[in-house]
Amino acid sequence: MALLKIVKAGAPILKETAQPVKKITKQTKQLLDNMAETMYAADGVGLAAPQIDKSLQLIVLDDGTGLIELINPELIEAEGAEYGSEGCLSVPGYYGDVERYTKIKVKSLTRHGKTVIYEPEGFLARIFQHEMDHLKGVLFIEKATNLKLVEE
Ligand code: ZN
Repeated sequence: MALLKIVKAGAPILKETAQPVKKITKQTKQLLDNMAETMYAADGVGLAAPQIDKSLQLIVLDDGTGLIELINPELIEAEGAEYGSEGCLSVPGYYGDVERYTKIKVKSLTRHGKTVIYEPEGFLARIFQHEMDHLKGVLFIEKATNLKLVEE
């Protein structure tokens, strides 16, 4: 495994729509492993492939209850709305409140190519939406209110 370099806001890839994964290969699985290692090392709760300079629809996330990998995720249902604080490994130090659905249904592929449905709520649903926005070239700072820089 290896740590990957996280690209920061301003990098063009963060504004692009990520390409769907056509075939899940050994390289795809290796990339997912490296993305997870990079996310944990950076103390993040989610990481999308554009953040490591790859235009691919791949996401790793973990709200503290276990690693979830998403390949070509699709939002199929959504309800509710609430504001909550967000930050981003590509926008270090900045936090802001973003409105998100409270409960969603997401269809994805597993690394074994099987279709899986996730029904996250609350904070986990927020992470899904934040990361899926990265696949559309959208950063949370474009949606956030009360954006502030927190010195660490
Ligand atoms: Zn982010």
